[in-house]
Amino acid sequence: MHRWILSHALIPLAIHHAYVSYMGKLMGPISTFFVYTTSTLLTMFDGAHLFRNLAYSYGVLDGDKCQRDDVPGCGVRTLFDSFFLSTISRIMLIFLSYPIDETPASMNLVWLPIEISLYGIIYDFWFYWYHRLLHEVDGLWQYHRTHHLTKHPNVLLTTYFSLEEGVFSTLACPFLSWSSLKFMGLPMGLSEWWICNSYITFTEFAGHSGVRVYGSSPSPLTWLLRHFDAEIIIEDHDLHHRNGWRKSGNYGKHTRLWDRIFGTCYARIECLERNIDYSNQVNLPLISIPFRSHFVSTKLVKNDWPKRGRAQVDPDGTE
Ligand SMILES: [Zn+2]
Ligand SMILES: [Zn+2]
Repeated sequence: MHRWILSHALIPLAIHHAYVSYMGKLMGPISTFFVYTTSTLLTMFDGAHLFRNLAYSYGVLDGDKCQRDDVPGCGVRTLFDSFFLSTISRIMLIFLSYPIDETPASMNLVWLPIEISLYGIIYDFWFYWYHRLLHEVDGLWQYHRTHHLTKHPNVLLTTYFSLEEGVFSTLACPFLSWSSLKFMGLPMGLSEWWICNSYITFTEFAGHSGVRVYGSSPSPLTWLLRHFDAEIIIEDHDLHHRNGWRKSGNYGKHTRLWDRIFGTCYARIECLERNIDYSNQVNLPLISIPFRSHFVSTKLVKNDWPKRGRAQVDPDGTE
């Protein structure tokens, strides 16, 4: 997972660095925005293919009872808007927070593993309380309801949320996390924050993929969190979606640390220790976008999923 995340996150940084090195001048704001936005969109596109292929190969959680939800016809515009909003707003936030003359060459490689480790945990603290309040405060549920219309999400529904929720989750949580780490004295330079957010995006995709594998959040501290039964896996956020409104739990999306501390963890159903085959490891291909076999793979999925009775999100559902 680290290999996949870093290989994708380093592409725009490498282009940025090469431009500054060979041109001998700073990259302009429009060029910078274009490089990072295009790279992010391609990464998300590749990630969507990755998890879709994994679901096709390894099956999906709760698959013997329910099928994965499809994007509803009336929700395509919502999905499109929230996808671009979450992508662009996060990039703009990162670049507006730094002086234009900061380049990837200033990345602090010594602090980077520590920043990646702490960022996911601090991010999840802010996300936990923001998310829990959305569930438990009556007036706020309306902003989170859209995201919960799917009980069995697939990876395409990761960014299926209302515009209000999209703005807050893609701006406030990253900004509060960045501020917290700065306050703790960590350097959190531009490139380091970029890589930290790449880890966050990957975990969010994984958590909505429904893939039936024991896939934990790719934090360098996962081994320590696992020691306290506080690491998050794909099934944990999947269980959150199966339980709506006030009956919910598993509010964290990057660890289970805060759910453990505040007593809101769900018991796992399928990914129990006795069910895990550690001898079967899942290797992630670095590129999943089917450049050459695009039409073949699309045909396979489209022909197969309807046979399994693909469901749609319930547009009138509240729980
Ligand atoms: Zn929720
Ligand atoms: Zn979700």
